[in-house]
Amino acid sequence: MKIAVLSGKGGTGKTTISTNLAKAMGWNYVDCDVEEPNGFIFLNPKVIKTEQVSIPVPEIDPSKCIGCQKCVNICQFNALAWANKDVLLFDKLCHGCGACSLVCGYGAISEVDREIGHIDVGNDEQITCMRGTLNIGEPMAVPIIRDLKKMIGNEKTIIDCSPGSTCSVVAAIEGVDYAVLVTEPTAFGLHDLKIAIELVRTMNIPFGIIINRGSHEKDLIEEHCEKEKINIIGKVMFDKDVAVLYSKGKLLVEHEKYKELFLHIGKKVEGEIACSLL
Ligand code: SF4
Ligand code: SF4
Repeated sequence: MKIAVLSGKGGTGKTTISTNLAKAMGWNYVDCDVEEPNGFIFLNPKVIKTEQVSIPVPEIDPSKCIGCQKCVNICQFNALAWANKDVLLFDKLCHGCGACSLVCGYGAISEVDREIGHIDVGNDEQITCMRGTLNIGEPMAVPIIRDLKKMIGNEKTIIDCSPGSTCSVVAAIEGVDYAVLVTEPTAFGLHDLKIAIELVRTMNIPFGIIINRGSHEKDLIEEHCEKEKINIIGKVMFDKDVAVLYSKGKLLVEHEKYKELFLHIGKKVEGEIACSLL
């Protein structure tokens, strides 16, 4: 069972929601926001294992290459070029698809692993935590997310996604049972929320909304959700206690008031998943 936590834009409090939800529900936590994985700052698990993530990239043997350029023509990502009677590789563009080595009829291409990042696995007292980290300057986040997803297995897991609706988000939410969309009650928040809603609807994933930094008054997110019959599963108020806990790198569930709130949201989400399976 997997729940993805996503947001149409950065800075909405997605990691706050996902770490606190994981802790309140007792579900494992996986940080798929591999360009900026900061869930471990709040959960503070003891890291017990680190694994490198690599992709296979071509290595060309010039002594066997006859210059037919089939490899250059097959590459869909422009990672190969023909210049000065040589095949050139732009390794940051290579997706490791293996097509070039398949079409080379002269055995001039072999594959070598290129490290793009790593995965940490850790434990806190109750839950297993994993995070992927993309090396600085690397453009390819998806292979790390795929490796993380393989490691989750069938465990009950909260997946913290990257902000936006990029390939990384699509890879992270593929196959999840439910999506929690985190937003804030501003015009920008609503604009990006609509994009996130379109994404989960296209992928047929049941979803609910959490409003972060909300007030006691009805806001524009609630008005939109009411009009569109979209389920709001929780609201975290804009409140001094949240700011104090956040600035100390602490979880909100360490405060009784928020523990209750996240337990309530967790129960609601589990109920929604049960209904979606009927
Ligand atoms: S397909 Fe093989 S032989 Fe042809 S250019 Fe590429 S490396 Fe050289
Ligand atoms: S492995 Fe795929 S992406 Fe990389 S250079 Fe070869 S064809 Fe292009």
